[in-house]
This record gives sequence, C-alpha cells and structure tokens, in this order.
Amino acid sequence: MSELSSYPTGIRLSDDNRLVIDWSDNVRSRIPFRILRDNCPCAHCREAERNPQPAELLPVISAAEAQPLMVQGVKPLGNYAYTIAFSDGHDTGIYKLELLRQLGDAIADAES
Ligand SMILES: [Zn+2]
Repeated sequence: MSELSSYPTGIRLSDDNRLVIDWSDNVRSRIPFRILRDNCPCAHCREAERNPQPAELLPVISAAEAQPLMVQGVKPLGNYAYTIAFSDGHDTGIYKLELLRQLGDAIADAES
C-alpha cells in the first residue's frame, strides 16, 4: 500500500452517527459508525468474516446489537492509526489512516 500523503487535521463524531475526518488535502470523510464496525481490521473480526459460524445463519440479536451502534471513543495510536471504541464493547481494532481514507472515499463515491 502506498504511503498516505495526507493526514487528519480534524476528527469528530457527527450527529448522524458518522466519524467525520478532515484531511490535510481538503477532503472530508464522513464514515457511518456501522461501516467502521463492519470493517474492523482486528484479527478476530477478520477471522469471523472468513469463517462464518453456523450461528450467523440464525442470527440472535443481542441487547447490545439491538441498540443503535455508537462510537464511544476515538484515540490516536502513534501518528498512523486510531483505535475506536464501539458501544457493543469492541475496541481492539486499529484503524490505520489508509483504511480510514479508503472507507471515506468509498462512502463518498457511493453517495455521490
Ligand atoms: Zn474487530
């Protein structure tokens, strides 16, 4: 993956449940929390995606999942990533800037 030439100049949570990132090249990413959660890069989530458990065919919605997914905290990790704490209790994903930018660009394409 090529080195990212831009960096976040501002990051905040919007009222419509999105992570809003302003980049140094004047691009604004607006990524829905659910998209972030579904793209969690941690080993556990990637493994679950590769090997769906039979239980996922008969989904049981837990109390946490029945609530709207929220982001409870965003913390910088060095100068290359953020960790994001979700309201379902998951906070081990390390979202590299490249991933955040990719997700933001994909959303922008989908919504334009
Ligand atoms: Zn994860």
